[in-house]
Amino acid sequence: MYQCFMPAALLAAQTGWKEWQSMEPGFYLLALPIFFLYGICIGSFLNVVIIRLPRGESLIKRSSHCMTCGAKIRVIDLIPVFSWLFLRGKCHSCGEKISPRYPIVESLNGLLYVANLLAFGPNAIAIIMCLFTSVLVIIGFMDWDTMEIDLRVLAVILVLTIPAHFLMDLTIVQRLIGAACISIPFFLIGEGYAVYSKKKNGEAIRGIELGDTYLMACAGLYLGWKAMIPAAAIGILLAAFFGLILKKVTGESKFAFGPYLCAGLLIGAMFGDELTNWYLERCSLLVETQPVQYYSSMFLR
Ligand SMILES: [Zn+2]
Repeated sequence: MYQCFMPAALLAAQTGWKEWQSMEPGFYLLALPIFFLYGICIGSFLNVVIIRLPRGESLIKRSSHCMTCGAKIRVIDLIPVFSWLFLRGKCHSCGEKISPRYPIVESLNGLLYVANLLAFGPNAIAIIMCLFTSVLVIIGFMDWDTMEIDLRVLAVILVLTIPAHFLMDLTIVQRLIGAACISIPFFLIGEGYAVYSKKKNGEAIRGIELGDTYLMACAGLYLGWKAMIPAAAIGILLAAFFGLILKKVTGESKFAFGPYLCAGLLIGAMFGDELTNWYLERCSLLVETQPVQYYSSMFLR
């Protein structure tokens, strides 16, 4: 049914990609390194966004320069990951250390692109998913740095939902439930904690920031509820685990929730549907009563 609405070009692109699938494993031997290189190049742009967007600097104007001595970065030093390795993480002019964050973001994005290709196969969905995962990388690192989630970056997820809707096998209802199922509990917990802390300390502190709530609403609309539930569960578990470690190490109890939610969403985007289907299948096998089987089969594709 959704194919009726799909523009002819998209359909042609999809069937074209399907032919490529018959070319494995030789295809993958060629495509995986290409996707990785493509990913690290986009990753180098993500670094620019992560650093410049919170400062209100232009993303395209002004070439990159050393943070310490201001020396312009040479064209040869702009090759993602490899330049950092060749320079051994130091500026060519003043020898000041260049943060390992740059090659980390670049190679993480490269690996995510490879993972997307493996998870979704060579098709248009993999490309949209690559863009989605890059947006999550930006949100995660920016929240880590600034404790803020930029609404302009979240808007990119909403824009990606439009092509995703025509490519992925998800109904609007599944998307709307996805948008609400985590964000509404997050909102209520945040509000509830604000009321509680105001009574206790006289200062209203939200337990969960609104930015995290908006993130889960936008990602839920994009991914649908099936992927959202394991994504949120993994994100919350990671945040609880690393939050406890951070508190032990630094004594600070306030930390950015976004990076962990983004990590959960990355896993949810790739394996969430399968995890939920697997879980629902287990339930219907374990509980042999008719109603449970009936309701769980409704949710299975
Ligand atoms: Zn320098």
